[in-house]
Amino acid sequence: MKPAIVSRILHTRFTVSTKSLFLAAMLSVAMSMQAGEKSSTWPQAYSVKWDKAAGRITLATLFYAIEQDLKKGGAISRITLTHGKAANLLVGPTETYVCDENGKVLSDLRDTAPQVTHRRAGLNEIVTVECALTDEQGHASAVRVKSTFEYRWGYVKIHKEFLVPASGFRVREMCPFSTLLAPSLSHYGYREGATEEDGAPPFSFGSNRWRKLRAGEPADQPLQIRFVPRSMIFADPGVEGLEWFVSSDLSQWDLQLTGRRGQGRCALGLNHEPPGLALSIAPLWSTNTFTGLTNGCAFDYYLAVPLLEGHAQQPWLHTSFNRNKGNWVSAEEIRRWAEKGYQTVHCHNDGDYYDDGLFWRDGSYPPYPDMDGYDNVLKNCRQAGIRTATYFSNKELHPSTKEFQANGLAWGRMNSKGDLQHNFFRGKSEFGAQMCLRSGWLEFLKHSIDRVLQNHPLDGVYYDWNVALFCCNPRHEGKATNAVARGHWDMDELLDFMEWTRQRVGPKGLVIVHNTTTPMFALENFADYVVATEWGYGKWTNRAPDLRDLPLEWSLAGARSRGVISYGTIESKAPRRLHRVFALEALLGGVTPWTASPETFDLLPLLKPLGNIEQYRFADWRNEAVTLSDSRCGSAIYSRPGEAYVLLANLDQEAKEVTCVLHPDKLPHPLNRVTAATKLTPAGDTMDLDVRQWMGNGLKLNLRGDEATVMRIR
Ligand SMILES: [Zn+2]
Repeated sequence: MKPAIVSRILHTRFTVSTKSLFLAAMLSVAMSMQAGEKSSTWPQAYSVKWDKAAGRITLATLFYAIEQDLKKGGAISRITLTHGKAANLLVGPTETYVCDENGKVLSDLRDTAPQVTHRRAGLNEIVTVECALTDEQGHASAVRVKSTFEYRWGYVKIHKEFLVPASGFRVREMCPFSTLLAPSLSHYGYREGATEEDGAPPFSFGSNRWRKLRAGEPADQPLQIRFVPRSMIFADPGVEGLEWFVSSDLSQWDLQLTGRRGQGRCALGLNHEPPGLALSIAPLWSTNTFTGLTNGCAFDYYLAVPLLEGHAQQPWLHTSFNRNKGNWVSAEEIRRWAEKGYQTVHCHNDGDYYDDGLFWRDGSYPPYPDMDGYDNVLKNCRQAGIRTATYFSNKELHPSTKEFQANGLAWGRMNSKGDLQHNFFRGKSEFGAQMCLRSGWLEFLKHSIDRVLQNHPLDGVYYDWNVALFCCNPRHEGKATNAVARGHWDMDELLDFMEWTRQRVGPKGLVIVHNTTTPMFALENFADYVVATEWGYGKWTNRAPDLRDLPLEWSLAGARSRGVISYGTIESKAPRRLHRVFALEALLGGVTPWTASPETFDLLPLLKPLGNIEQYRFADWRNEAVTLSDSRCGSAIYSRPGEAYVLLANLDQEAKEVTCVLHPDKLPHPLNRVTAATKLTPAGDTMDLDVRQWMGNGLKLNLRGDEATVMRIR
């Protein structure tokens, strides 16, 4: 084992009481497989510790540990990220309950002796639990729940089957998932469960609705909706997170119990004692009427966490190329890219940009008559040390392909009328028709990607439309072409596809995903880089938003290098200085403008004195180690044992005098004693700073407009 692995694990921020519990499990993982050699994008084995006396089973990887409480119905009672902050992302265990016709709550948590089994399946672990739903007095009811927990890489797939007596059982509420989340997971998004029938537009993208729920913030309202959301993502922004989402068969949640949509309830509210976010997701909910269950019913859902590696992310310097009327990127240009610092490029040519008909029609191969030009770009990039990918749309197939002509209707994503949706680039020039992965499209897409990777010197893939979408094609539900679909999305298939992708490109391959408005940890975990914020948020016209108003997906949980799309965010006619502020706000969030703008490169020298960025832990503008007197100024921290760098930026055009106070105990690696502080100038000079002043009443610093500065402390 490399010593670095141990030190990283020891630097996790567990509370003393929980530390011993998980440390042993995580250290044993580290020792058994030396997984520190591999990045978190590559699936690795779990270590499983079954402590019968304590009544718990712990499943751990280097990056997270999950515990099931065998004295409380076998429920998941702990989720801890090795490099996260909260000792447990769950303040209360996950609970399964029903409320019977008389209003009596029957819960799995009250079964103190559930039947539990465990087995391994390849790298995955499978835990099964059977328990009785039990009342407050400890009497088991006639309803039993059989659960299967399939532990995969970064996520757990959970199957819950309710078994009811032959005589039937009447319920007012049925809730397969309820819990109390850590209050720090206060920023969240949910993708609505409503369909066309309920007023959603046909072919809706279903972007997350973004909300916050913080104690002491009256503007943050609790959530209560009658449709089960398709997914919910919670984050302590830039720090960690947890998500819940449903499997592909949406009818389980929408129609199974009553045959009518909108009969459930998803509720999220503040809990005061203990502090937490009370979440319950019930496909059936009523305060006064009951539904008779005669058959059992099953629900499939997932829990996922971001795989945090516990270090700051390198700025991601990326650009793209296309055929450009046959004027392929020259070898000289690629050498200049490399000198400038570009790490990755991808071929992006999904539309007829030049009106010459020569573009990469989605799903076609070969796309160009001059594939040698494409290969030369890739070879020159490889020679220059730049990694390459090529564009694939996970959802689009061009109508000119023989596969579309043969299978378009069979594979297509349909609205309730059975129409396909064609996406257009300009006028009649088409990107492609939308497909659904819950069909033969999945295998064809894999084949299509494999064919390109086989034939060209690529490091990997760039995925557009990396998102599960609602679909009403009855063929994807095993029904006749003229039958009425009950509604599904292609979540299970998208996960399968991402796992396949990582295997296909290998542990050192390149995976870039684009997921504007619909980021998901479970999918991003298999990617090296994520592209965000192309659309869906307010455009910047003459002023950059305050840091607190940036979208959650700007940095999400900080687990992956992210590129934030400036051309999607800044109005084309906006003053150029907004690109500078965009780059400054990216710097303070630990992300990079995408594709890398001139302003990105202007700011890069600020990070040069740090050397290898991955030696540090990063804390974004929300850090508590630095306080500033002006809300239009921000800070970010790169911290390692014995040393830290503080970035300060002024997001306004005017120069400012700002008071800056340092709290070295709040650094990611706290400093007990600060002995020296210096300000670094772009010219490489240093200027000593008064440490006592900085930690006392604060330094008065003059910051030029739209400017950033770096300070080093030891
Ligand atoms: Zn479908």
